[in-house]
Amino acid sequence: MPAPPTPDQSCPLCDAKDWRTHLAGVLDYISGERFDLLRCESCGLVITHPAPAPAELDRYYPPRYRTDRQKQTGGWRVRRRAAMLQRHFPRGFRGRLLDLGCGTGAFALEMQRRGWTLAVTELNDAVLEEMRSRGMEAKRPDEALRDGFSGERFDAITAWHVLEHVPQPLALAKWSAEHLSSDGVFQATVPNLASWQANRFGRHWLHLDVPRHLFHFTPVTLRALVERAGMREAATSTVALEYDVFGVVQSALNGMCSRPNVLFERLTARGSAPEAPRRDVIVSWTLLPVLLAFAGVECALAGLAHRGGTLTMTCRVASNKPQ
Ligand SMILES: [Zn+2]
Repeated sequence: MPAPPTPDQSCPLCDAKDWRTHLAGVLDYISGERFDLLRCESCGLVITHPAPAPAELDRYYPPRYRTDRQKQTGGWRVRRRAAMLQRHFPRGFRGRLLDLGCGTGAFALEMQRRGWTLAVTELNDAVLEEMRSRGMEAKRPDEALRDGFSGERFDAITAWHVLEHVPQPLALAKWSAEHLSSDGVFQATVPNLASWQANRFGRHWLHLDVPRHLFHFTPVTLRALVERAGMREAATSTVALEYDVFGVVQSALNGMCSRPNVLFERLTARGSAPEAPRRDVIVSWTLLPVLLAFAGVECALAGLAHRGGTLTMTCRVASNKPQ
């Protein structure tokens, strides 16, 4: 796996070499280590520093992180994602879809159920085996980038919460552009660093998730990335309630508790959640109802202002790009 960028290198997006501190001392709730966010003064791209070396990644991705952390919103989330993609195709269209970083495979299985032909990439071998048994072509990311997939180009490639995790998102976007049909769709979702919630909560923002998130995108920097990869933005949304509402709730709690993400871990990791100070647990559960109400209003208004917490950019291959 290639190494992520470091500040002594030029910016992977614009080639400038002028990094400034964007946020200092952001705490990782899993390792207890602190990381800085650095911003390229030329194009605005924000990276995590120091980025973990590829060999160290397992330390930051314990098993409880890799389980399906959104079980509570799973079915609804998958149907919403399917609708978000399908609306960019003619009514009734079914084609070839590649889901990059398919997670548990729930979205891929839903699209297959709807009649699409699926291929997936994922790091988890058990998931790959399961997807193969369902008739999908399933590969590890490095193998897919090197060898591609059999058959024709894809009608759609989706990258939901992937680009912020990979060491070279531009290379992945370029590869995607090259493997899309001429009227194909690339749909990427990332946390929105230009959102109201990111600005309000600063280093307490849940969706910074350092150092697992190596990059922190805004609409401006994600647009620059897809354009440099040979695609053009066709549509952008900044709302995904299942991420945004809890982003506000947990980030507000992070500002009041001694440990970050106490409630998040209780809701997602269940029995394997680490011990937390009693005061943090009490504060989290007590304030949950009022914070949920506040978050609902905040997210609705942020969405209307295009400043929601989750950025989904739908892109098409640029027409001047040779096919
Ligand atoms: Zn730059």
